[in-house]
Amino acid sequence: MQYDLSDIGTVRAILSRHGFSVSKSLGQNFLIDPDVCPQMAAQAVESPDDGVLEIGPGVGVLTAQLCRRAKKVVAIELDRRLLPVLSETLSAFRNVEIISGDVLKLDLQALLREKFTDCKRVSVCANLPYYITSPVIMRLLEERLPLAQIVVMVQKEAAERLCAEVGTREAGAVTAAVQYYAQADELFFVPRTSFFPTPKVDSAVIRLRLRSEPECKPTDEAFFFRLVKAAFAQRRKTAQNGIAAGLGLPKEQVAAALETLGLPADVRAEKIPMPQLVALSDRLCPK
Ligand code: SAM
Repeated sequence: MQYDLSDIGTVRAILSRHGFSVSKSLGQNFLIDPDVCPQMAAQAVESPDDGVLEIGPGVGVLTAQLCRRAKKVVAIELDRRLLPVLSETLSAFRNVEIISGDVLKLDLQALLREKFTDCKRVSVCANLPYYITSPVIMRLLEERLPLAQIVVMVQKEAAERLCAEVGTREAGAVTAAVQYYAQADELFFVPRTSFFPTPKVDSAVIRLRLRSEPECKPTDEAFFFRLVKAAFAQRRKTAQNGIAAGLGLPKEQVAAALETLGLPADVRAEKIPMPQLVALSDRLCPK
């Protein structure tokens, strides 16, 4: 049997039959807009040979759309109470596997290796719980998982920050980190009224296409990320002060490095474009 999981009446009936009450702390806002999941699935699955890793299937509304298009869908759900719900709502599909666990703790390298052997490429698609948006995205990127792309719904403000140009006012440390690993694009806006229960914020779907190599590569990647974190640590401070304090370097050394790159001593991190952040890291990195 196939359910219309974007119909709020159907979802309420299924949840009440399973005695399920929504958990705010797990970020459970379920999509009830019939247009959003097909659009997300169409962006995430480019060929019928694709595999998809979903994070947080909830009642399975996006999962069902992914199953219609992809060769295989593996979905990780933390809330064990949803497992019987999902076995009912996804019973019509043979190409789905639900894994009970925490996306931040599971061994994702091993999972991708084992579960998608017969898929041409694998993408991540999810309506991410707001409370772990950045840690999940950073984990997916930093572990250099063999993924083609990540198509995820996040809070609107997070989407703007993640997809901002490095060197503009909207950028933060996470912007620089994301753009190091991926090409980030905002795909479409999703109003808060598209969810049950209705959250206090709007959302947007973004796409991160993973780069095979970063556009600008520092000599020491770990030092570069420490520098980015320090530079953006206090947004009202100058990059010079943040970097000097965060990395334990003399201010004069940081000022001199900024000057050789043609940047003013009082520049803020958000004004430094990516190539200059990388050059700054190379200049300050102990040999
Ligand atoms: N995909 C569904 C939808 O669009 O309606 C549900 C999205 S809801 C925003 C987030 C889902 O992530 C919930 O089902 C929640 O239980 C699950 N979740 C929360 N924390 C998680 C974690 N650490 N690991 C895996 N799933 C998690």
